[in-house]
Amino acid sequence: MSATETTKQNQNNNAQNNKAAKPKIAFIGLGNMGTPMAENLLKAGYSLCVYDLSAPAIAHLQQSGATVADSPKAAAADAQVVISMLPAGEHVHSVYLGDNGLLSDLPKGTLVIDCSTIAAADARAVADAAIELGIEFLDAPVSGGTGGAIAGSLTFIVGGSAEAFARAEPILATMGKNIFHAGEHGAGQVAKICNNMLLGILMAGTAEAINLGVKNGLDPKVLSDIMLQSSGRNWTLEVYNPYPQVMNSVPSSNRYQGGFMTKLMRKDLNLAMQTAEKTKVDTPMGAKAAELYEAHTLEYGDKDFSSIMAFHDSSVLSK
Ligand code: NAD
Repeated sequence: MSATETTKQNQNNNAQNNKAAKPKIAFIGLGNMGTPMAENLLKAGYSLCVYDLSAPAIAHLQQSGATVADSPKAAAADAQVVISMLPAGEHVHSVYLGDNGLLSDLPKGTLVIDCSTIAAADARAVADAAIELGIEFLDAPVSGGTGGAIAGSLTFIVGGSAEAFARAEPILATMGKNIFHAGEHGAGQVAKICNNMLLGILMAGTAEAINLGVKNGLDPKVLSDIMLQSSGRNWTLEVYNPYPQVMNSVPSSNRYQGGFMTKLMRKDLNLAMQTAEKTKVDTPMGAKAAELYEAHTLEYGDKDFSSIMAFHDSSVLSK
């Protein structure tokens, strides 16, 4: 064998050893967030078997190098780790605990990481059932949007045991930059809904401020630049401006397609309101944002949540 062949052989062996050392992962839920997250795991050398209800989503991941399955159980058959990224609590419940639910089929010691945003109580219910079966469970909702999912710079907000967190950390680090251990089971979800309540308030407020400026003769880009360097600065102005064509590569400049759907923001605001009500905490600004997103969802549920801009000026939908 020549020196070049030997080097190539060594490189192949290294790549194979590298893959062999990594746990096999089942990834369930390949939507706006799940697809780029799964692709980052593939790029980092993990073996992935994926499942979604949507055939095109599965086909896309197959092209990216994943093995595909026709059910959550088939996806998890050979996996040491299961990751899910589903819309809401009912989907998480049905995948893990429903008829034919996945949990009862997993071998002891499997690590389940649910990245969906769901009620803390729902996360605790799945965690309790998992613990009974000797399975480790983490709630690990994310922040950072589809941009963060594509760039691998998400923030993970994790609830669960320190041991399970330590096991999950290197996997999460391939999809995110900041990985927080918020506390025990459910703590990740509580932190996440606090954050998203604030995000809903900030997005609704930013859209309202830009509308006030535009209706008084200001250019939305000039106003946004001013607020960005003033005390109104916030994440939506920095990376997710709700007014069309102020920023490139954000949903508002693409007719509010993709991104984080209005109906998902409404779900998160409702989760925050339910938590506030249960624990008797006052959240008047959150309540107002929840009311606005409730009304907005009736017509624009599938559009990105920055389309709350259209609440003030429907012409933005065609700009
Ligand atoms: P999405 O609707 O784009 O994707 C969800 C995917 O889950 C879809 O592909 C759907 O087909 C699949 N699915 C639904 N039920 C299923 C089942 N039983 N089995 C297998 N697949 C199933 O949603 P998304 O934007 O990717 O969000 C996912 C979660 O992440 C939500 O909880 C959301 O609140 C949260 N989140 C989203 C963003 C964002 O910017 N989009 C940011 C942070 C957190």
